[in-house]
Amino acid sequence: MQQTEQHLGLRVMMLAKLTAGNDAQATINRARLDQAGAVAVNIIGSPGAGKTALLECTVRVLRADLNCAVIEGDLCTSRDGERVAALGIPVVQINTSGACHLDAGMVSAALEALPIPPCNLILIENVGNLVCPAAFELGERVRVVVLSVPEGHDKVAKYPAAFRHADLVVVSKTDLLEAVDFDAAALHADLRSIGCEAPVLELSAKTGAGTGAWAAWLRGAVGRHLRPERR
Ligand code: MG
Ligand code: ZN
Repeated sequence: MQQTEQHLGLRVMMLAKLTAGNDAQATINRARLDQAGAVAVNIIGSPGAGKTALLECTVRVLRADLNCAVIEGDLCTSRDGERVAALGIPVVQINTSGACHLDAGMVSAALEALPIPPCNLILIENVGNLVCPAAFELGERVRVVVLSVPEGHDKVAKYPAAFRHADLVVVSKTDLLEAVDFDAAALHADLRSIGCEAPVLELSAKTGAGTGAWAAWLRGAVGRHLRPERR
């Protein structure tokens, strides 16, 4: 038994060390972005939550005001990177070849490949996953968690770590509300029960409903971290 406990203890320590190394790199990334007058936004959500569609509509709305760039994280393919690059902004696609989250080292390499400045809003689409992306800071100033209505309101209670440190919770695909049972009141109650005070915004990237409020919220959240002349 003693041996098992030591073994388990060692495993936990190794994970803690890994995360600590990541946090140090995330701090470097954040300082680098601060110095360049740029802000990164970490967008977390399950596969199929609508992260890329949200990015597309965000870039369309905010590009008149902010100089956008995107970092796309996926296990395989450059499909999402191609979708966003079609909007004519700089995009780096990270393929993690199996890793189920982005880490600060990957984002550091991607930042090197982006024109910062002039880009001052770096939107990062994390690998579709509600588990470990929550534990890996990337150097972001703003963290957004996207939950689509077909996934169900109970995701907050099942995956609390993903939501606990969110600055905003986006409920996406509200055009499907008629077709699914999604209890917004239960979602809000679960968020409060895990200590998440983040506001919740409902939207549909497909119909555009709610996307104006989202863009306004993001513009405000990002603006607080930009240099005065860029606010
Ligand atoms: Mg995507
Ligand atoms: Zn992972």
